[in-house]
Amino acid sequence: MTDPLVARLRSALGDDAVVDDPDVLDSHRNDHAKFCTAGAPRALVRPSSTAEVVEVVRAAGELGVPIVTQGARTGLSGAANAIDGCLLLSTARMTQILEISVEDQVAVVQPGVVNAQLSRAVLEQDLFYPPDPSSWEMSTVGGNIATNAGGLCCVKYGVTSDFVRGLEVVLASGEVVRTGRRSAKGVAGYDLTRLIVGSEGTLGVVTEATLALRPAPEAALTAAATFRSIEDGIAAAAAVMASGLRPSLLEFLDQPTLRAIQDHRDMGLPEDVGSMLLAQSDRGTRAAEDVARIAEICTAHGAIEVAEASDAEESRMLLEARRLVNSALEPLGTTLIDDVAVPRSQLITLLRGIAEIGAKYDVLICCPGHVGDGNMHPTVVFDPADAAAEARALEAFGAVMQLGLRLGGTITGEHGIGTLKARWLETELGPVGLELHRRIKAAFDPGNLFNPGKVLL
Ligand SMILES: Cc1cc2nc3c(=O)[nH]c(=O)nc-3n(C[C@H](O)[C@H](O)[C@H](O)COP(=O)(O)OP(=O)(O)OC[C@H]3O[C@@H](n4cnc5c(N)ncnc54)[C@H](O)[C@@H]3O)c2cc1C
Repeated sequence: MTDPLVARLRSALGDDAVVDDPDVLDSHRNDHAKFCTAGAPRALVRPSSTAEVVEVVRAAGELGVPIVTQGARTGLSGAANAIDGCLLLSTARMTQILEISVEDQVAVVQPGVVNAQLSRAVLEQDLFYPPDPSSWEMSTVGGNIATNAGGLCCVKYGVTSDFVRGLEVVLASGEVVRTGRRSAKGVAGYDLTRLIVGSEGTLGVVTEATLALRPAPEAALTAAATFRSIEDGIAAAAAVMASGLRPSLLEFLDQPTLRAIQDHRDMGLPEDVGSMLLAQSDRGTRAAEDVARIAEICTAHGAIEVAEASDAEESRMLLEARRLVNSALEPLGTTLIDDVAVPRSQLITLLRGIAEIGAKYDVLICCPGHVGDGNMHPTVVFDPADAAAEARALEAFGAVMQLGLRLGGTITGEHGIGTLKARWLETELGPVGLELHRRIKAAFDPGNLFNPGKVLL
């Protein structure tokens, strides 16, 4: 017998928009997070328009079927994972760039547009959409909005929320709300746009976004500096940020990460290197001058060596080490990627503390990160065949978050809570903050239709 939800959605959206093939459903159960459970979905639906999303939300709501909205499922917190009996609402067919306005410097898009697709389209008009998560070739604008994604150039330009002017959202009631505005300024009412950004699919389905653009940046140049210690590298990063320069990228790699990269591919990194800093300036004709100043600052902070790129190809080569992080860590074992962010003044204490946590729990913790934002990705690596090592890795993962909080930071700078960190959320928000979150969720979604069990337990 056909599932009544599937039958209703097929009649409203057409047969090919609704999938109940178990193999396809199985392949859509998970995002990229490890250690997050995923349930068995009831069906997958791919609406093409806001009106179709309304149909889907109404049908699921009336039948009491929870909805998990999915973009590209590159999330790292389990927020896009299926729950048992849910309807997966994929934005894979909502891929239109509806408008690019040079005059207003905005783009209006459907949520399934892939970040890189938008970035390339606006660049053709000499415009720039800065949010650039490393997953930009895969992840969707809707997913970036729902996770408030960051990226490499956030250090200069800000994160996704800084570029979302307005949203169209389908609410649990099936009503459509437009939040925010197209104009650069506007303060009427509560900032519902910012509330929905980062809400991880728990408050509604984003069906359209109006995004602010910037003039395209000029060509970027890169400097790469190696240091004997973690402390020297962090101190140099702090000095670069305090110098008045505005690097368009400032990334850090610690010794365990550099060793993994060197083992993965010979980049000629000497054994005694304790850390590496990568910095970029995208100020065109002034980039060479900026990079030279960054090099001077690094040298003054004890850099062993500083390489300065003189063109785009050399810049690309210098950034190669950063790009290799994921592929270098994967072969070492299972990776549990943390995402703490602290005030920059606390970074040295954070990194020392992480080394102590690694020693205490006897696990390898590699620590690459967006040092300019104080956002590090301590990555606990362990042997998945060793149950004791796995237990210690999870303890270490929690200890890193506690340390980040003690230092005035957050348990997640950009990857979100999902299910991975839901049990730690109260530690950061406190009981009053958590209760307020619950009331906000209830105001938007009284029947707990959207992504139940994510963010809020
Ligand atoms: C290799 C790799 C590198 C990464 N690098 C970064 C990085 O540099 N910075 C960073 O911040 N993240 C990074 N991530 C994490 C991930 O790419 C981001 O969280 C991204 O924003 C998720 O987008 P997505 O389209 O894959 O969304 P999904 O994973 O499908 O969904 C993420 C969340 O958004 C919700 N959602 C999706 N679309 C909508 C919508 N239209 N309306 C309402 N809710 C919606 C989902 O329900 C879920 O809660 C990386 C991931 C990988 C695998």
